[in-house]
Amino acid sequence: MLDFSNKQRATQISSLAINQYDLIVIGGGITGAGIALDAASRGLKVVLFEKGDFASGTSSKSTKLIHGGLRYLKQFDFWLVKEVGSERAIVHKLAPHLVLPEKMLLPLIDNGSYGKWLTSIGLKVYDILAQVSGDDKRKMLDKKEALALEPLLPKKILKGAGYYAEYRTDDARLTIENIKTAVLKGATALNYSKVTEFIYKNNQIAGVCIEDQISGETYKVKASYVISAAGPWVDDLRALNNSKEGKRLHLTKGVHLVFPFSKLPIKQSVYFDIPDGRMMFAIPRGKITYVGTTDTNFNKDKDQPRVSLADAIYLISAVNNMFPKIHLELEDIVSSWVGLRPLIHEEGKAASELSRKDEIFTSGSGLFSIAGGKLTGYRKMAERVLDKVIEKLPSEKKESLNKCQTAEIPLCGNGFKNSKAVQKYIEKLSEQLEADYLTHYEAWHLVTNYGLQAQDILEIYNQQKQLIKPTADYRSHSLALLLAELQFGLNYEMVCSPEDFYIRRSGRLYFDIESISSSLEAVLKLFKDQEFWTEAALEKSKEALEKAIEEHSNFSMSRPYEG
Ligand code: FAD
Repeated sequence: MLDFSNKQRATQISSLAINQYDLIVIGGGITGAGIALDAASRGLKVVLFEKGDFASGTSSKSTKLIHGGLRYLKQFDFWLVKEVGSERAIVHKLAPHLVLPEKMLLPLIDNGSYGKWLTSIGLKVYDILAQVSGDDKRKMLDKKEALALEPLLPKKILKGAGYYAEYRTDDARLTIENIKTAVLKGATALNYSKVTEFIYKNNQIAGVCIEDQISGETYKVKASYVISAAGPWVDDLRALNNSKEGKRLHLTKGVHLVFPFSKLPIKQSVYFDIPDGRMMFAIPRGKITYVGTTDTNFNKDKDQPRVSLADAIYLISAVNNMFPKIHLELEDIVSSWVGLRPLIHEEGKAASELSRKDEIFTSGSGLFSIAGGKLTGYRKMAERVLDKVIEKLPSEKKESLNKCQTAEIPLCGNGFKNSKAVQKYIEKLSEQLEADYLTHYEAWHLVTNYGLQAQDILEIYNQQKQLIKPTADYRSHSLALLLAELQFGLNYEMVCSPEDFYIRRSGRLYFDIESISSSLEAVLKLFKDQEFWTEAALEKSKEALEKAIEEHSNFSMSRPYEG
């Protein structure tokens, strides 16, 4: 296993200052992660800086689908559908344990946005553009067939359904696995490192200044080229480079709500109409079901978008409208997340009409910025922007580089032939864990988040069991397993705080929020034992986590209505 830990932070930082890099990537979301992997595997000496934790921007707050974007057909964005549609199968192949097939049901109802004919043609075009084959090809279902798949659909107004194939992932884990794979290929990547200034030589960018968000210290790093993949912050960096002219970003806010599965027990994912003409997803996932999303203009503090009561009421009403037997209320919300789409502004267009296409801006002083796009298309975005940078390289250097190979580089944790092999591994692990009072859920959680790295976590777990000797029950063993997962994150995934672990490495804040209160004391103790974190830093971090839990899950009337 490759050591990728903040325990080596000081050594890593001192080596940054004395090196000359080919490329600096700003932003550790999926776009920056994809660029780092592509650059390192082509043979470039690359370093990536992220101001917060990896994936702490939009890339942990999406709908978590690797999808072709059926709705973009309505905007005649055929090129986008073709590209992201084809990328789905590639990203699935790169990490079949993390990018899982997810069948989607599109109910046809009276006065819905898609009639039967349009849905059938639309899905057919979708299949063709995305080169879908075999069992994954779209099917049109009659009312009875649709209800058999999802009995909670509105019987009275249901006419039938479209049934088609997508993929579901964990966006933050897809990001960290891309970063880890880049590091394996020779890249350097550091979280909590903010780019505060550009360094110029002969009016051309020659490096950046970094402010370490942990120690507060600043230092300089030199590189021939800089790509900004700063998502919603792209225009801030363009402004810092005095190059914010012409096209600009248009941020829209998207909210998701999480309910216990028992409160919204849908048997399968549904993409459904809402009364204002938009569409939204309801996706069951383990212990919970999540729904989303909203799409509204956003002009506030990018570091602190909030879910307002109005957002929550909008989503709950839409769910209750589509599933008449469900009566969700604000107090049923157990978690939520809110993300900002870094879209490209188009005059006169409403939030949900804006294209999701990516765009590259190149400044006179050599800053390359990439924004827009989709989680699904990250690999092609990386390829496009790197091709542009490589065009500028001296021919000798250019010739020494590999072509883009990322379609063939399995991500860390992959060692599976296909989804069946993933399922088999889950079952094997589940049997193994049964002896320790653990359930199928733990096996599923480990494999669908870490793939074969589950084995490394289990090794740590087995060692820890010898030391802590858990009592003979589920609670005690599941805590030991959670601590092993954390130790893995500390050693190999640059976990820096309880928030990093609970939110972005293990997804527990969203998908298993109850596991936080029962493990927090033990988690803090493990951090303390690492001797890297001071008492004061840990106390601050505990407070931040408690605030995050409150913010994500408490939907009492004291929350602002708008915002
Ligand atoms: P980010 O993830 O925001 O990364 C940019 C990073 O740059 C941030 O982490 C930030 O901290 C860092 N940064 C900024 N300034 C600095 C600086 N000065 N120094 C260092 N670092 C800096 N796409 C799909 O394909 N499928 C979906 O299901 C889907 N659903 C979505 C739902 C919602 C609600 C939203 C908002 C988006 C969705 N998307 C989806 C789109 C997708 O999530 C985004 O396109 C993608 O995550 C953007 O990634 P990014 O890396 O460009 O930006």
